[in-house]
Parts: sequence; C-alpha cells; structure tokens
Amino acid sequence: MTLNPKTTKFEFGGPLGVTVLTIFLPILSVVLNELIRSDYYIKGIFQNFSINETLKNITPFSSLLQLTFNKQVWTYYLTWFISLLVFDTILPGKYMNGCELRDGTKLTYKINGISMVTLLILILSVRWNLTNGTMPELQFLYDHILELCLVTIVFAFILSIYCYAVSFIPLLGSKRNGQDGKEKVLAVGGNSGNLIYDWFIGRELNPRFFFNIIDIKMFCELRPGMLLWLLINLSCLHHHYLMNDGEINDALLLVNILQAFYIFDGVLNEEGVLSMMDITTDGFGFMLAFGDLTFVPFTYSLQARYLSVSPITLGYTRCILISTIMCIGYYIFHSSNMQKSNFRQGKLENLKSIQTKRGTKLLCDGWWSKSQHINYFGDWLISLSWCLTTWFQTPLTYYYSIYFATLLMHRQIRDEEKCHAKYGKSWEEYQRKVPYKIIPYVY
Ligand code: NDP
Repeated sequence: MTLNPKTTKFEFGGPLGVTVLTIFLPILSVVLNELIRSDYYIKGIFQNFSINETLKNITPFSSLLQLTFNKQVWTYYLTWFISLLVFDTILPGKYMNGCELRDGTKLTYKINGISMVTLLILILSVRWNLTNGTMPELQFLYDHILELCLVTIVFAFILSIYCYAVSFIPLLGSKRNGQDGKEKVLAVGGNSGNLIYDWFIGRELNPRFFFNIIDIKMFCELRPGMLLWLLINLSCLHHHYLMNDGEINDALLLVNILQAFYIFDGVLNEEGVLSMMDITTDGFGFMLAFGDLTFVPFTYSLQARYLSVSPITLGYTRCILISTIMCIGYYIFHSSNMQKSNFRQGKLENLKSIQTKRGTKLLCDGWWSKSQHINYFGDWLISLSWCLTTWFQTPLTYYYSIYFATLLMHRQIRDEEKCHAKYGKSWEEYQRKVPYKIIPYVY
C-alpha cells in the first residue's frame, strides 16, 4: 500500500475555493474587529447604523499596512510565541501516544497543559497590581488588538509557507522503522500536487521541529491562540474596570468566566485533542495556522470586546439562564466525548455497539444513540450561551454561533465521508440505527 496516496477529492471548492477563503477569512477577521470598535460598532439591529458612516470610519488600507508592520507589536507577539514554545518544551508533563499513523508508528505527545496554565496564572498574579487593579501589558493588548490581529495573519502565512516547504524534506535525524531519511506521512487531504490547495489544507500531517521535540500542530491548537483569547478577554475586563472607576459589569464578567472555563477545560484536558480530526486527519496548513492563531483569539473574543465598550446589565435572572445553557451544553459536550473515549479504551463493554471489519466498534448506545455527533450539539449550545451575554443588543456577536454551526455541519459531512469510506456497511448500519446527524429529532 502507498504510504502517501494522492488526494483525488477536493474540499472547500478545490483550489479556487481555498484561494477565495485565503483572501476572505483574513478580511472577515479584520472587518469584525473593526466593527466592534467603540467609535462605530453596530449598536442595534436598526438603531444608529449607517453604511456610509461605517465605510467612512473604516481604517484605510494604507494605514492597515502600516499597522501590520508595527515593530513593537511584532516584538511582543514573537516574544509571546517563542516564550510559550520554550516553556512548553521545558515544563514537565506526561507523555502519551497519538493514534496509529499509516506507516504503523505512533507519535508521542507531551501533555503539560496543567504546568502551562499554572505558569500563566502565576505570571498574571505577579504582574497584576491588585491594589489599583492595573496591568500595563493587558492595556497594551487592548489598545493594539487590530495591529496584533494583522500580525498573526502575516505570521500564519509565514508559518504555513514554511511548513509546506519543509514537508518536501525527507525525515532526517529521526528514525522511522529504524531507518533515517524516510518519507514523511502526509495528510490524506493535502497531497493533491496543487500548490495552493496543499498549502491551505496542509501537506504534512504532523510537522515537527527541533529534533522532533516541537509538534507545531498540537502546539498551535492549544497554546498561542487559546491562551491569547483568554488574555484578550481579560484585557477587556481590565479596560472596562479602568474606564468605570473600578466598576465591574456583570455581562462582561460572565462571558469572561464562561469562556475561561472552556479554555482551561480544553488546555487541562488536552489529551482529548489527540483523537480530534485536526490532529488525526488534517495537515498543518494555512487553514489550521490561521484558525488557531488568528480566528480563535480575535473573533471568539468579540463578545467581550463588544461588552467592554457597550456594557449591558444582565441581572441575576438572565445570568442564571445563560449559565444554565452553558452548563447543559458543557454536560452534553463533555460527557459524550468522555463516553466515546472510555468506550474506545474498552471500559464500557456493556453498551450496545456495531462490530466493524477493521476490528474497532461503533458505539450506538448512551449519548451516541441520540445523534451521530451529539458532542457537536453540546459544543454549539456553549457557543450560544456566550453570544447571549450580549443579549439582543447587536447581531454582530451572534456571528460566532452562526459560524460555529456552519463549521460543525461541514465537519460532520467530512467525518461522515471519512467514516463511510473507512467502515463501509457497518457505517450504513450505524446510520440506520442512529439517523440524526447532530440535533436529535431535528437534524
Ligand atoms: P469527534 O470527536 O466526534 O470524532 C469523530 C470520530 O470519532 C470519527 O471520525 C470516528 O473516528 C469516531 N467515531 C464517530 N462515531 C463513533 C461512534 N459512534 N463510536 C465510536 N467512534 C466513533 O469529532 P471531532 O474530532 O470533529 O471533534 C471533537 C470535539 O471537538 C467535538 O466535541 C467538537 O465539538 C469539538 N470542536 C471544537 C471546535 C472549536 O473551535 N471550539 C472546532 C472543532 C471541534 P475513528 O476513525 O477513530 O473511528
């Protein structure tokens, strides 16, 4: 069997589609960040919104170019990225194997989310002056969001071009089946031979640098973007606190707490990522580099950014309602993922399942009898709870739930194709037993 079969089926509309996405997604991130600015954010659906005013206020392209090459912001960002890389490498953690690759090997991953989070909390508590509630770094972050967003876009371009280029260099210095210089394992979807398409999807499945110590895909998935998202949220709280003489807005505090919980949960349970499609199937190209480094921190934080300039007092009832939606979503998301993971480890043999020809079983009991991707439904409810913190004052912040629903539906289609090709008749039997895709009785 060929180690790296040629990609014959294109996704995202092929080379043309990915070219459009490469241009559109960075523009969308900048536009969303511009619209949220205090001087002309969309206040209400019909209220105070004028296309002319919006166009007049938008930062001109020449200024955007200037902002992109702000030396101070580049220095801060590179310091952030490199420090995280260094700490990730030196901080202690446990080692776990990833899934089996097509060449029969398994990569080892260092799991040290708890050490990274502890370090970040330590740095924040040392730097944050609790007597006057200030931290200059957080204010700098808040004041330079647009520049930082632009810097991460350029950085994602550079990183993905580099990863694409090194994907052609055979594995040197590392032994695969006891031999040096073996062919690298490429992503099934990123080996079409079309430069732009493979660069976007990611050609190499698991690019590793510095004598294979740094797994750049795993690192980007959970460190620079996720933790920056947390800091941006905190910077909004910090800014609002300073602007309002120490007053803390309940909606802003709530979105900070809910999202911090989600971020910490992701980083502290990072071994869960090892079985995710991003790690097992997708290569590391512009799609993931941009998604992890730009899209997550700069668009997932829009609710907090909006509330920092346009606070809403939610009151106890609405806070409890929103928290309940988040808790239900989290319960479905977490317990369904745990159930599948425990089942795959052979811990829940009493649950009904379908034996596949490949030797593994498809769970069709418990959460996995409700829908084929009940975990996506839980995750989507979580996203809705975050948008609700801005209540119904603006449609802008609801972009996240809409985008996330699209992402999850597209992911479900990709996963269905993958599982159908992998499990054939067993997958069809599973689909008959569990007909709903994501939301039970709806879709
Ligand atoms: P899943 O965790 O659902 O994994 C799908 C894989 O699980 C399939 O390819 C198959 O893999 C296996 N599988 C599917 N059905 C069954 C079954 N019934 N029994 C046993 N195994 C089964 O999907 P993802 O990797 O896409 O997502 C993981 C989590 O990450 C989700 O909860 C999702 O919501 C979240 N997520 C969050 C994002 C964000 O930006 N916040 C972005 C994307 C995902 P195999 O080949 O091993 O059989």
